[in-house]
Amino acid sequence: MLFSKIADFYEKIEATTKRLEMIELLVDLFSETPREIIDKVVYLTTGRLYPLFVPIELGVSEKLAMRSIAMVAGVSLKDVENALKEVGDLGLVAEAFMKKKRQASLFYQPLTIETVYETLDRIARESGEGSVEAKLKHLSKLLLDGTPKEDKYIVRIVVGALRLGIADYTILDALAVAFTGSRENRPVLERAYNITSDLGLVAKVVATEGLEALRNFKVTVGKPVRMMLAQRASSPEEILERMGGRCSAEYKLDGERMQIHKDENRVDIFSRRLENITYQYPDIVKITVENLTARRAIVEGECVAINTNTGEMLPFQQLMRRRRVYGIEEAMEKYPAMIYLFDALLIEDEDLTGKPYPERRRRLAEVTREEERIKLVKAEIVDNVEAIERFFDAAIENGCEGIMVKSIQQDSIYEAGSRGYKWLKFKREYKTEMTDTIDVVIVGAYMGKGKRAGSYGALLVAVYDDESDTFKTICKVGTGFSDEELESLPDTLKSYQIPHKHPRVDSKLKADIWFTPAKVIEIIGAELTVSQVHTCALGYVKKDSGIAVRFPRFTGRWRDDKGPEEATTVREIIEMYEQQKK
Ligand code: ATP
Repeated sequence: MLFSKIADFYEKIEATTKRLEMIELLVDLFSETPREIIDKVVYLTTGRLYPLFVPIELGVSEKLAMRSIAMVAGVSLKDVENALKEVGDLGLVAEAFMKKKRQASLFYQPLTIETVYETLDRIARESGEGSVEAKLKHLSKLLLDGTPKEDKYIVRIVVGALRLGIADYTILDALAVAFTGSRENRPVLERAYNITSDLGLVAKVVATEGLEALRNFKVTVGKPVRMMLAQRASSPEEILERMGGRCSAEYKLDGERMQIHKDENRVDIFSRRLENITYQYPDIVKITVENLTARRAIVEGECVAINTNTGEMLPFQQLMRRRRVYGIEEAMEKYPAMIYLFDALLIEDEDLTGKPYPERRRRLAEVTREEERIKLVKAEIVDNVEAIERFFDAAIENGCEGIMVKSIQQDSIYEAGSRGYKWLKFKREYKTEMTDTIDVVIVGAYMGKGKRAGSYGALLVAVYDDESDTFKTICKVGTGFSDEELESLPDTLKSYQIPHKHPRVDSKLKADIWFTPAKVIEIIGAELTVSQVHTCALGYVKKDSGIAVRFPRFTGRWRDDKGPEEATTVREIIEMYEQQKK
């Protein structure tokens, strides 16, 4: 299949402002793709070569891509740099320069998707001495053979900036239509995706083997399971009501969620976004290899930074500092961490995700040797308000942000990829005005004035509506940013900039600049109020009105561990609004 097909498709996707059209375009593309390469087309469309959990990066820096463009177009590196400064998008720069490029080579052949994919794969796998030059050579060959439009997308893919803003679940929708003839089969695709986190694999199997084969998918070591998440609860009474009178209460630790996959002496650690973060945590790898007694296991826990002198837990920010330190050894020493386990998804070859929680927890305890740096999360079965309150107070006293409560009923299975009521989080603050933070997606920006001229005065931010798969605006946020942060915002967000409102963004306001919904930040406000201008929960409180955050402020926390679909949802905002009214 010709690469020009995919390039045309990307161009149409970028031009559309309607979400439904986006799905139709995807269905067309998938239907026309030869089935053997459907996985490659799916990965490329997500801007990658492999699923997120495979720790292979293309490793092409902006600088290297610029060198390649300059070489192929026969211009100087300085020309490319200047153009980039002006335009801000290296893909567009490549397209413009390539329009003037020298004649194609003598043995010119139009690019196929297979060639592009294979060459990119080769680029990604080059490592060690001489790899930079080798990458440059491969990339330049591609750019030479590509049309200007194709080069635009090749460049965006290699520098990690192909941001079409298509949700994984939209791809599943389109695959269901293209290969099973109906959206109704999506739940089968969704389950397969939730337990493998591999869109390309799901696509390949449904396209070549059909639905039945997807139904046989099993949880496997090495493929992260999409994590089960919690809803909010606002009182012990509500907890007991939702949990059927009895449940497991646990400390809610403020660290980083980890899904740990062990196979003999090999351990892989996946983050909440299912990225492979093993290399950041050699200490946790060592502890789990030594103290998980099962040969094969998938377990989950929360990693927290600790003060080794006092054994106290330290706040999340402390753990995140690890990322900023250069050497891992140094990071481990400066910011020691430990792991508190709370769930088991697989032990040896037994898939436990369909088992009730008490059984999973019991099995976890059986295979965990507790030590100084590896423990089970403190848990207690509670069945009355006083017990919950007592446990909650103890949690706060021990430096936790609150408690998690989990169903222990017969149906308390591990619901991969879902945020249901089988797990609830309970923090004291929900009881009063808005003191809990929310995670919002940056969808637009307004240019600053006066002191802020040249940078952004405010960002337009949105929450996620999972029913319509769109982003609804909830406020403009302009406070809480440090001066340096403010200054660097245009640069940070430059590569997400698009010429018109993204088709998945629902906004009554017109921003000066629009972005592909991608970046998530944490904000807090004074309260949630009824709003004429924002589209979050439109019509819920009053006709034509939505819900907005009053006096929003950036907390300083970039939620890079969350994708846009993992931002706070409209439904959660409605619940918080109801709580606040009480
Ligand atoms: P979420 O993960 O629910 O989208 P979040 O990352 O903003 O949201 P919270 O909503 O405050 O975090 O809490 C949920 C998170 O709490 C879990 O993802 C997990 O990382 C963490 N956590 C801490 N203790 C536990 C526990 N005992 N059981 C499950 N999760 C826990």
